[in-house]
Amino acid sequence: MAPIIHWFRRDLRLADNTALAAAARDSGGAVLPVFILDDALLCGRHASPPRAAFLLASLGSLDADLRALGSRLLVRRGEPLRELLSLARESQAQGVYWNRDYTPYAVRRDGAAEAGLRSAGLRAQSFKDAVAFEMLEVATQQGRPYAIYTPYARRWRQLLAERGLMLAPAPSLAPLERWPASLPIPALEDLGLALGATALPPAGEAAAISRLRAFADPRREPGMAGYAPARDLPGVDGTSRLSPHLRLGSLSPRQCLATALSLREAEAARAGADAWVGELIWRDFYAQVLFHHPHALRGAFRRELDALAWENDEGLFRAWQEGRTGYPLVDAAMRQLRQEGWMHNRARMVVASFLTKDLLVDWRWGERHFMRLLVDGDPAANNGGWQWAAGTGTDAQPYFRIFNPASQGQRFDPQGAYVRRYLPELANVPDRHIHAPHLMALAEQLRADVQVGRDYPAPIVDHGAQRVRALALYRVARGRPSNL
Ligand SMILES: Cc1cc2nc3c(=O)[nH]c(=O)nc-3n(C[C@H](O)[C@H](O)[C@H](O)COP(=O)(O)OP(=O)(O)OC[C@H]3O[C@@H](n4cnc5c(N)ncnc54)[C@H](O)[C@@H]3O)c2cc1C
Repeated sequence: MAPIIHWFRRDLRLADNTALAAAARDSGGAVLPVFILDDALLCGRHASPPRAAFLLASLGSLDADLRALGSRLLVRRGEPLRELLSLARESQAQGVYWNRDYTPYAVRRDGAAEAGLRSAGLRAQSFKDAVAFEMLEVATQQGRPYAIYTPYARRWRQLLAERGLMLAPAPSLAPLERWPASLPIPALEDLGLALGATALPPAGEAAAISRLRAFADPRREPGMAGYAPARDLPGVDGTSRLSPHLRLGSLSPRQCLATALSLREAEAARAGADAWVGELIWRDFYAQVLFHHPHALRGAFRRELDALAWENDEGLFRAWQEGRTGYPLVDAAMRQLRQEGWMHNRARMVVASFLTKDLLVDWRWGERHFMRLLVDGDPAANNGGWQWAAGTGTDAQPYFRIFNPASQGQRFDPQGAYVRRYLPELANVPDRHIHAPHLMALAEQLRADVQVGRDYPAPIVDHGAQRVRALALYRVARGRPSNL
């Protein structure tokens, strides 16, 4: 039977891969597994050395997994439609299958691929895979997309209960007669990128599954069972850290949900598993928000807030990027981002609020910085998170709720475990001052081995004063007179 090309994109796994399983079924196992390195993504405005490095490591692992089944990963670099057409010609394939993606770029790329393949007489089929529910599957009674999370999540949970979960069968692959030429999987430097000091998590499907199993293991604390109270504490290893795998698809959301649903059978684990599923719902929610409102990728979801007159002080922005703001929770988080290509969710909320509402810098600057450094950088989730923090997004978070970084630290990192991990210069600061070291008297600073202003910066802005200025900025943008 003529082979079918499976076009891997952000589904870098063999298990529960909807399009791959369909390609294997429809071709009697004659599948040509292909990945196309796309310079528009690798070198475009969201280019990211850590994410590209994780991608290359994931491709290496996928290739090894395919080889264990007698197949291999064929790699090309270029414009996707052109590469697919030439691969189809060289392998005499009957068509191309892929799993759908929903960002504005992916929708345009896939629309062009589908039209081009069909007009060349090839089958072109796409499948739902990257999300639990697709863009209009969770809709209001009038068939419109939800713009608010809570009713969306309620309907999402209802749908899951009605429809249940269907995982795709493992593909069985037959040997191919014809293998078109493949590029080797490149090194990061071949793409003109350098990783710097970021330490990457283990890549690939086996690493993803083992991380999911470890997180769900009832003997592990806090784990999924203890997720509800632990997830807000950045100093505790209390979340799954599966986001890089979910981003590239070395794990599917259905595999995650199946694990959570089976764990919640035990009464003691129910609250944790339900809270964790709530986060996977956020993931679907933001994917459909961006799909239905692509303008959000360039400007405020609430268009009237494009009028916000950001101050955009480049020096303050650099201090934020480098973790030199004098607010320990913010600085620890920004250093975690640089060192690990990942940041705890509570910390993401705090640093995003700080950049926009304390430093009065445009949220899009922060969004871009995150996309450059996050291994899990995802246009929809990142944009949703930034707009949430800036108060320009979908949700009910009122713009006047502004995080105080010191009290967030006292509440969620009371002993400073997180702060001390990333800011060793504050290791000996007593707990009561760990989130405001500048309040220590000089004698206390000397006892703690740190001099504020020399070893660690004094706060670069005054939170109370900036809060008032931020409120005025928002009032003006919303067409209300400023109180100042
Ligand atoms: C300003 C800001 C930017 C963010 N940027 C991204 C991003 O680029 N990519 C990204 O995956 N997440 C982003 N998030 C959401 C969240 O911070 C991360 O998904 C989470 O910290 C990943 O860690 P985890 O895998 O341990 O999550 P867990 O708590 O274990 O959650 C499980 C999974 O649910 C999904 N998830 C969790 N929270 C959210 C959320 N708020 N929105 C969407 N999906 C969620 C992720 O896929 C995550 O892996 C952002 C949040 C904020 C506030």
